[in-house]
Amino acid sequence: MIQLYIPLNFLGVLYREIKQSLTDLDRMFTLLEKEREVADTPNASALELSGPPTVKFESVVFAYEPTRPILHGISFDIPAGKTVAVVGPSGSGKSTLARLLFRFYDVGLGAITIDGQDIRHVTQGSVRRAMGIVPQDTVLFNDTVRYNIAYGRTDATEVEVVQAARAAHIHEFIAATPKGYDTMVGERGLKLSGGEKQRVAIARTLLKNPPIVIFDEATSALDSANERAIQAELQSAAQNKTTLVIAHRLSTVVDAHEILVLDAGRIVERGSHADLLALNGRYAQMWALQQSSEV
Ligand code: ATP
Repeated sequence: MIQLYIPLNFLGVLYREIKQSLTDLDRMFTLLEKEREVADTPNASALELSGPPTVKFESVVFAYEPTRPILHGISFDIPAGKTVAVVGPSGSGKSTLARLLFRFYDVGLGAITIDGQDIRHVTQGSVRRAMGIVPQDTVLFNDTVRYNIAYGRTDATEVEVVQAARAAHIHEFIAATPKGYDTMVGERGLKLSGGEKQRVAIARTLLKNPPIVIFDEATSALDSANERAIQAELQSAAQNKTTLVIAHRLSTVVDAHEILVLDAGRIVERGSHADLLALNGRYAQMWALQQSSEV
């Protein structure tokens, strides 16, 4: 029996390993698929930056499928070191703006420039190196917490990793686990909540210290203490960086240089929080609704 059990058990382990590897491979191909959407032009040079740059969307038109336009001529600037926030109903195209800036896809018409350089004409690698992205749903590697935080800067020291984790308010949580920064996370390790994963992504971004930050806020409901924590984390991640925030909670955007209200791929209102409240339109309605639901 034992003789049969061992090989069977071994096969079970092997099966799980293979299944996991296939999952990882599948993910890799999904990523590669995205990579294939865009290609460097021959002789493309690297993006040249000296400090946080100005990002411009100039009449950007985009569709994932030719028959279904998603963005209809979007124009806005994020001045160097400032934050622009995008709000609007689900499906209005907010995350699409983030994906285009990261150049997962190329724009259909119009252009996106960084300090005057069209992102289609510089190397994709140099654009991505200049950006830190905190996605809505962070996929962690099946590795240690340390590896996941240091991923964007593998030469980081332990002190720097801990510093970033503290600023992202995830240090206490990590330190409370028996293996601390050696704890394995991901599918084969410790499962983290959406908010915790997003904090790991914030820590990664803080450590990478890129001049441009894209923050796609998680949609999951948060209690108000957590919401305040996220705001503080976001502020530390955005300090002196050119930042695009895709926001689901308006409290995250009140300090933004400009807020864009997107609806069905068009900017329907824009301005500061105070401007938009005074306008008494869509944003003011959304604000009143969120305020009343928090009471
Ligand atoms: P949410 O607030 O729910 O995250 P959003 O405003 O960020 O929504 P997007 O994710 O930008 O919306 O999506 C805009 C539209 O584009 C949606 O109608 C969506 O179905 C469509 N879309 C998104 N990704 C793809 C894709 N890969 N292929 C085809 N259509 C897509």
